[in-house]
Amino acid sequence: MFDICELHEPETLQEAKRIFHDNPDLKVIAGGTDVLIRMQHGSLAGAGLLSLRNIRELEEIRMLGDGTLSIGAMASFTKIFQDDLVQKHVPVLSEAAVSMGGPQVRNVATIGGNLCNGAVSADSASTLFALDALLKLENLEGERIIPMGDFYAGPGKVNLGPGELLVSILIPREGYEGMGGRYIKYAMRKAMDIATLGVAVVCKVRDNRFAELRIGLGVAAPVPIRCFEAEAYAKGREITLECVQEIARLAVKPSRPRTSWRASKDYREHLIEVLAQRAVAEAVKRAGGCCAH
Ligand SMILES: Cc1cc2nc3c(=O)[nH]c(=O)nc-3n(C[C@H](O)[C@H](O)[C@H](O)COP(=O)(O)OP(=O)(O)OC[C@H]3O[C@@H](n4cnc5c(N)ncnc54)[C@H](O)[C@@H]3O)c2cc1C
Repeated sequence: MFDICELHEPETLQEAKRIFHDNPDLKVIAGGTDVLIRMQHGSLAGAGLLSLRNIRELEEIRMLGDGTLSIGAMASFTKIFQDDLVQKHVPVLSEAAVSMGGPQVRNVATIGGNLCNGAVSADSASTLFALDALLKLENLEGERIIPMGDFYAGPGKVNLGPGELLVSILIPREGYEGMGGRYIKYAMRKAMDIATLGVAVVCKVRDNRFAELRIGLGVAAPVPIRCFEAEAYAKGREITLECVQEIARLAVKPSRPRTSWRASKDYREHLIEVLAQRAVAEAVKRAGGCCAH
């Protein structure tokens, strides 16, 4: 049994914002795959819950007029990896979504919950970071739209203000158009395991040169990170094996991995270099380039 003192189940976003405004101590619950486990372990004993499960508008995935792909915070991982718009425009996100958990978890776990729990291992986070995604946050007073890099405040901590909900993830056209991408999740098991390291790469290729490259890493530092030095190095360069190897070496520089029971710091650094090289090479191929010579 779960020790819950009250449960609110609004059917509209406006109603949810009103309830949260009036009861700021409520714990938001989306799919519940993190929250219910914490309740079961007793760390949220006696909490009041604000469930977003009945708010259909938060599940929508749609293309906005300016070409921004908008993904509702309550979209489940199953919905995301099966969605036509996601598969057409950001297949790398579909790849990340299907690598998450197992079918039962993916059916209920939401992308909003994956970001808001602040876990550095969140499979969607590094990919969304590489896609230059923006997060739309709302409370009763209004809305703000912030880049992914401003959302993470530390391990397990995110910048959500009082009464604030993550409403949607916005991927602007410039974030995905003409990009090839690859997400590689390295875990101890092939399925149902948390990432030891996650590497997301998107790139645009012109005349076999990097027109643009973005690399997001998960579990490489206390929060998901981007590899800006490696990205800047790549810009305009001819795509060769040596160039990709140098990008992978530079990708290690901003990382600050820690030793845990899953892997040592040294092993994680090794993984970053090896997997970044692999992910860049595959993203290049998907973007129509070649780094064989
Ligand atoms: C068996 C198992 C396997 C798992 N495997 C993986 C895996 O491979 N990869 C991975 O990344 N994760 C994994 N997880 C972790 C978890 O499933 C994900 O983080 C999931 O995306 C959380 O989403 P949720 O909807 O269940 O969130 P919830 O548990 O409902 O909420 C998570 C947190 O986010 C907050 N929150 C949720 N939605 C909002 C919102 N819209 N606005 C503001 N705050 C919000 C909640 O208050 C809570 O703090 C696994 C979990 C389990 C149980």
